[in-house]
Order: sequence, then C-alpha cells, then structure tokens
Amino acid sequence: MSQLKTAESIETEGVGVVKEPTVTLVGRTEFVKPDYVPWQTDTEVDSQALIEFAGRQCYRSWSNPAGRTNEDYIQNMMNMGHLSVIEHTLASFHISGVSRSFTHELVRHRHLSFSQLSQRYVDERDEPVVEPEAIASDPELHKIFSEVAEHSQRVYEQIVERLDEVFADVESKTDRRKLARQAARSVLPNATQTEIVVSGNYRAWRHFLNLRCSTYAEAEIRKVAMKILEILKEESPVVFGDYKEITASDGSRAAEPTMAVE
Ligand SMILES: Cc1cc2nc3c(=O)[nH]c(=O)nc-3n(C[C@H](O)[C@H](O)[C@H](O)COP(=O)(O)OP(=O)(O)OC[C@H]3O[C@@H](n4cnc5c(N)ncnc54)[C@H](O)[C@@H]3O)c2cc1C
Repeated sequence: MSQLKTAESIETEGVGVVKEPTVTLVGRTEFVKPDYVPWQTDTEVDSQALIEFAGRQCYRSWSNPAGRTNEDYIQNMMNMGHLSVIEHTLASFHISGVSRSFTHELVRHRHLSFSQLSQRYVDERDEPVVEPEAIASDPELHKIFSEVAEHSQRVYEQIVERLDEVFADVESKTDRRKLARQAARSVLPNATQTEIVVSGNYRAWRHFLNLRCSTYAEAEIRKVAMKILEILKEESPVVFGDYKEITASDGSRAAEPTMAVE
C-alpha cells in the first residue's frame, strides 16, 4: 500500500487559475405557427411570437384592428401580471469556468434544470480553481490561496491512488474509480472549477436575474447573471429589455428590473 505524504512533502507545480466565467447560449425556443390560426405578428423573434400566440389564444383575439405590436402586446400582459405566458419559452446555457460555490447557489433556483460535471466520474486532480477577485488582487492572499488549492489537489491525488489499491478487488474499472473519486473529492476546495448546463423558461430566468444581478448577490454569481442578462436581452428585447444596469458600491456591475417584480 502506498504511503500518504505529509503536507510539507507535497511538490508544488502550480495550479491552474480561472478568472472569467464563460456563458454560452446552447438552446432556445422555436415557434411553429399553426396554419389554422388567422393571425400575423410583426416580430421575427420566435420566443416572442410564441408568447403573443399563447396570450391571444386565451382570448381568441386573432384579429388586431388597433395594429398592436408584439412588444405592446407582451408588455401589456406582463404589466397586468399575466406572467404564465412567458413560461412557454426556453433558454439553455452552458456555463464553464465557474466554481462549485457558484453552482451551489445556482441550483437553489428550483424552476431551472441542471446537468453538472460529475466529480464521481471525472478525475479532478488537475482541475483549475476559480479565484475570487478579492483574493487575486492581493499578492499575499493570492499566494496562500494558490498553495492551499494545490495542496488540496495533491491530497486528492494521493487519496485516489490509495483507494484505487483498497478497491483493487472491484472488477469494473469504472466502479473502482468512482468509489475512489467520490471519497477523495471531499478534500477539494469550493473554488474547484466546474461546468453546468442550465435551462429555464423566461419567467424562471427573470426571477433568477432579479435576485442574482442585484447588488446584494455574491460577486461570482452576479458576474454570471450579468452575462446571462446580456444574452437574454439580445434573445428577447421585449421580455428582458427593462433591466437597467447599475454600479455596486465596489464598482462592479449589477442590474435591476424596472418592471414589477413578483
Ligand atoms: C443575496 C442572497 C443571499 C442568500 N443567502 C442565503 C443563505 O444565507 N442561506 C441559504 O440557505 N440561502 C440563501 N440564499 C438563497 C435563497 O434563500 C433562495 O434559495 C434562492 O435565492 C432561490 O430563490 P427562490 O427560492 O425565490 O427561487 P426559486 O427556487 O427559483 O423559486 C422561484 C419562486 O417560486 C416559488 N416557490 C418555489 N418553490 C416553492 C415552494 N416550495 N413553496 C412555495 N413557493 C415556492 C417562490 O415564489 C419562489 O420565489 C440567498 C440568496 C440571495 C439572493
């Protein structure tokens, strides 16, 4: 059986550090207009056409004598609190370069859906860490942070190797590795990088943005939320165009809605 090394004996070769999250839109709504509906809209945005269609269907108001635009129609419904209509739409994102602390906060949003990188299946011994800006900007703190992160990874590596021997009798290599990694991951820091696919409808995204673009939100999730907001404003200017950018007391970016909050 291999010998566990002491903290002092662990060689430091440097741990990868991620400074900026990546947010990529990977899924959106497609509207398929039924031939039997005598209605035309002025929008080319599928999600907004679907929202208007859902709203008009409630009242069978297919004719539009007042020449109301898609924007007017949706904003009127949203202002009345008729928000279930924006639940028909979907936006999916692939988010990487984020920490496990971030995803722990993200998954509290119960109307979003998630698929996250598995620490039981994937080897984490060389996974980069996400360094908070407050630490990165202080050389002494940065040094301590890097050393602790590296130390955790090397301990993880040793535990994996040792448990691989302990579970040598387990026939399946995949199961053996899973048994080792699921125990070893307990020593990895919250800062360990992860990636996640997250999907939700526009109502759920608005709720997320209201809480997480706020100046009260934690720095990393706010940074991701601001990136999501930028993309959603492009995707659907009518549903997300009301958010106004503001500056937090530390100079970082934040945003708040101007439409009524649920
Ligand atoms: C600044 C900040 C600080 C926080 N600090 C902490 C903390 O210290 N500790 C902690 O544990 N969490 C903390 N949280 C997380 C917070 O408590 C919520 O879990 C998280 O923000 C998700 O919000 P939500 O429950 O409104 O949203 P979602 O889960 O997205 O739900 C959306 C809405 O659906 C409705 N809903 C969903 N599920 C139910 C239900 N079961 N019953 C009734 N209504 C429901 C509610 O109206 C809810 O607002 C913090 C969040 C923020 C933004």
